[in-house]
Amino acid sequence: LKPIQSVAIVGGTHGNELTGVYCVKHWQKQNKAADYPEFAIEYLLANPEAIKANKRYLEKDLNRCFKLADLASDLPAKNNYATPYEQGLAQKINQQLGPKGQARIDFIIDLHTSTTNMQTNVVIIKTDQFHLKLAAYLKQTLPDVVITTESELMDEHHFLMSISDAGFLVEVGPIAQGTLDANCMQQTNNALAAGLEFVRRYQNNSLPKLGDSVEIMSYHGKLHFPLDSQGEVMACVHPSLINQAYPLIRLGDPLFQTFDGETITYQGEPSHLAFINEAAYYDQNIAMCLCQAKRYKLHDERL
Ligand SMILES: [Zn+2]
Repeated sequence: LKPIQSVAIVGGTHGNELTGVYCVKHWQKQNKAADYPEFAIEYLLANPEAIKANKRYLEKDLNRCFKLADLASDLPAKNNYATPYEQGLAQKINQQLGPKGQARIDFIIDLHTSTTNMQTNVVIIKTDQFHLKLAAYLKQTLPDVVITTESELMDEHHFLMSISDAGFLVEVGPIAQGTLDANCMQQTNNALAAGLEFVRRYQNNSLPKLGDSVEIMSYHGKLHFPLDSQGEVMACVHPSLINQAYPLIRLGDPLFQTFDGETITYQGEPSHLAFINEAAYYDQNIAMCLCQAKRYKLHDERL
């Protein structure tokens, strides 16, 4: 990994996740970058049109547009813009911060929220020693950090943050789409500051002891809402799961409750649940995601 000199702090990748939008504006107005003179920090509100519309996206989820092939593809024009709108936008952002693979920006922090109880969820898309130490540092520094990754599900990632070789995504919740909440704002600010402090200390060789390993929740699947014979949703997430943070579910545990009040149970390997009843995933009928807690070894070569 080359030395980290340039950092982008990104909000509004999803236009109805206001915490990141206002956090970026706040950092900009307060010139908080002055606290980190060793980095050239820039700010980006990634999808201003979606922010204006108070929607996650206009035509395509922007945070699914950053695979190399999609960044290189020719897009058809519609009215005055390339379509899907967000794919064209992703290509512009890639020119601005990237290009992916040889990016101008060394480190991206992308700020998100969830409608579910994800606590301070830090998402990493690489499990090299740098990112594992980042994960361990954030868990050690902030009380409610849970690290997740889907790196094992993807050979090449589609997140905005994948433009740079390093970075992380913060996802706090529960918070309703299009709203602000003081706790979520504070959690986001804390994660942002701790992430920058980690990079500073990593490069100064002044990290505290981080232990031998770090626990990371690794995604391995999704559960969809049960559908009736007409293809319509016929059950809610079971009330016992609502607002739970990463509960462990085992074979036979309650999973859904049909509109008739019958319980549908879980049939599968023991797993932790995340994004339980996430509003942003209803368009895909996704009711929750499955993950396993895994321990990753930390090598202490820098200390
Ligand atoms: Zn988001």
